[in-house]
Amino acid sequence: MKINVLTLFPDMFTPLKVSMLGRGLEDGKWDLNLVNFRDFTSDVHHHVDDTPYGGGAGMVLQIMPIKKALDSLSDKGKVIITAPQGKTFNEEMAQNWSKEENLTFICGHYEGFDQRVYDLADETVSIGDYVLTGGELPTMSMIDATVRLLPGILGNEASPVEESFSHGLLEYPQYTRPADFEGQKVPEVLTSGNHQKIAQWRHYQALKTTYINRPDLLENRELSTEEKKMLADVKAELDQ
Ligand code: SAM
Repeated sequence: MKINVLTLFPDMFTPLKVSMLGRGLEDGKWDLNLVNFRDFTSDVHHHVDDTPYGGGAGMVLQIMPIKKALDSLSDKGKVIITAPQGKTFNEEMAQNWSKEENLTFICGHYEGFDQRVYDLADETVSIGDYVLTGGELPTMSMIDATVRLLPGILGNEASPVEESFSHGLLEYPQYTRPADFEGQKVPEVLTSGNHQKIAQWRHYQALKTTYINRPDLLENRELSTEEKKMLADVKAELDQ
């Protein structure tokens, strides 16, 4: 997969070059092309922004340099604009994007984009209901969530399959050594060696965590008979 990023601050993208994503880059498992759209200006001061028509605070990013930067790419694939008014990014989008050959992200800054820039993109995406100074951190989050799903990026191929959101539920609690830390013991079932019971316990815990922290995820879920019973048990446990 090749990912292009249109940004005014390419230096901000160092975090993608370390750890597992960084190793993946070195091994050629994915590719990152940072494009500074200021390089596509033609005026002497290299302006990328201007004051808003109709008045108001701040500066608005102009369409010309962004359009020229996009046109310079032969492999832009799906084009994604970062904006608080976009639809909220989630794991399902990351899964869909991880199947693409090419992706291009556009990072805003200042007061955001001239409205006509949005027409250059296939999707407008937000990472949550808050406003950041620029699209670089949202883009890095979305790239991380997408690239980690590519084959060979994570050490353990199975790990993305069992995680939060992969089955519409949050992840169950995980433990490692020591089995007893200052009296806080690991649940007995996890050391029992009984894989069926461990799977049941994890499923119950995943439902419980989801019910407590993100009940909205359960609203549209078609619960199996087993899950209905588990959820009733979760509610009974919490009522006690
Ligand atoms: N004036 C805009 C508004 O009220 O919606 C906010 C612009 S923001 C200060 C500058 C840039 O940061 C945006 O163009 C976008 O690229 C990025 N950005 C800020 N918050 C974001 C979020 N929650 N999700 C995605 N991108 C965001």
